[in-house]
Amino acid sequence: MEHVIIIRYAEIHLKGKNRGYFERVFVANMEKSLRGIRHEIRRLSGRYLVENFNSSDVDKIVKKLSKVFGVHSLSVGFKVNSDMDEIFAAASEVSDDEGSFKVETHRADKTFALKSPEISARIGGRLLDANKRLKVDVHSPDFIINIDVRENGKTLVFNKFIGCADGMPVGTAGKGLLLLSGGIDSPVAGHMIAKRGMKIDCLHFHSYPYTNMQARQKVNDLAKILAEYNCGIKLSVISVKEIQEEIHKNCNGAYMVTLLRRFMMRLAERLSKHDGDQCIITGESLGQVASQTIEGMTSSNSVVESLPVLRPLCGFDKNEIIERSRQIGAYDISIRPYEDCCTVFLPDYPIIKPKLADVLAEEAKLDVDRLLNEAYSTLEVCEF
Ligand code: ATP
Ligand code: MG
Repeated sequence: MEHVIIIRYAEIHLKGKNRGYFERVFVANMEKSLRGIRHEIRRLSGRYLVENFNSSDVDKIVKKLSKVFGVHSLSVGFKVNSDMDEIFAAASEVSDDEGSFKVETHRADKTFALKSPEISARIGGRLLDANKRLKVDVHSPDFIINIDVRENGKTLVFNKFIGCADGMPVGTAGKGLLLLSGGIDSPVAGHMIAKRGMKIDCLHFHSYPYTNMQARQKVNDLAKILAEYNCGIKLSVISVKEIQEEIHKNCNGAYMVTLLRRFMMRLAERLSKHDGDQCIITGESLGQVASQTIEGMTSSNSVVESLPVLRPLCGFDKNEIIERSRQIGAYDISIRPYEDCCTVFLPDYPIIKPKLADVLAEEAKLDVDRLLNEAYSTLEVCEF
């Protein structure tokens, strides 16, 4: 009896002529996620099979594959010869210890001596005989024993379906630059876009020594969470300390965040052009804070010359974002209490609905090009 993992994929099957391309990227991503773990991935019709791994690695493999975008569900089961005794042994192995069940059989091998309903009935009968705490319920069973008689003389037997990440394989929808703060929202925004198949790079702005090393560690840890879904991740980091000091010295304090955002966007676009990122992604949600009004977004958007800015959380409530943050395992990191650069020199009353003309008048008090060049020269890069 050989341990196997059955992989069912999500939307890829809807792809017509391009399906081969999507499947190749999908398999490459699964292989990347299982790097260093002994295994083989084989294609069956409409799904994949992981074989030849150590049984002690099952949980590790399931955890890793469940984060690969494109995987809809997984089942851990056994591969046996298409023989009723072997099928029964595998069915006993995957069966729960008690509760109601039914057996569902799919017979691809039409030469197999028994038809599907007969296989289900016989295996179900033997399971009942062997364990008095089981009972049959064909309408709403607690669990289902699935038997898949394949054409190659082998049969797959499994029980549970483990729900996975869904989405499209990362790398099939281009590449984008996520502005990653240490907060709750931006990791969720990155996850959502990666889920649609876009490979994510990250850019974080710090204001060291106003912001500390724990704040930086927090961002590294968030990037590592995203890396699990994104087949690795590149994190670029830029200091905006000088920019913030200059704004603080020269401009109306109420415009601190509004002006800073415009610098962030310009730096993001410059880095995107250099790294081949095709869009900028932020965790902004309409009206969540003063800088995320439509007027605030208009102000920060207007400095971006040629890239789309994706704001996938725009229509989400904070509660919905928190729920997703928990689901992807980022929440506990995001709520660590270290300051983001946006809280440095934070005014008591930030401007809520900035008029572009006023923003431009404040910005005119600064040497924008020099500040951009200096900030860009602080760029540091790491990979996770
Ligand atoms: P988050 O939870 O993502 O920090 P937030 O609700 O705190 O968001 P803001 O601080 O207004 O909102 O930030 C809005 C967006 O701007 C963030 O989601 C992020 O994409 C970007 N951003 C803010 N601060 C930084 C930073 N220090 N580095 C990189 N991007 C940032
Ligand atoms: Mg924030």
